[in-house]
Amino acid sequence: MNNYLCKHCGTLHQSNSSPTTTGCPKSNSHSWTNLGSVGNNTYLCKHCGTKVSTSSSPTTTGCPSSNSHSWTKL
Ligand SMILES: [Zn+2]
Ligand SMILES: [Zn+2]
Repeated sequence: MNNYLCKHCGTLHQSNSSPTTTGCPKSNSHSWTNLGSVGNNTYLCKHCGTKVSTSSSPTTTGCPSSNSHSWTKL
């Protein structure tokens, strides 16, 4: 199971494979970034406010509010 985040609307979606790109409220289509596999560590991005639970530090690409996510482990 992976954490997918849309860089346009900030929607977080947990699934095994990349979710459908249709239905983005902020753009023509969702643009998903795989932040990492679902795990027991919770991280918060200080830019976009996304809170995500991953097994290791999430990827920094695809932040809706900045050039890159800045993760803090909670
Ligand atoms: Zn979207
Ligand atoms: Zn972010």
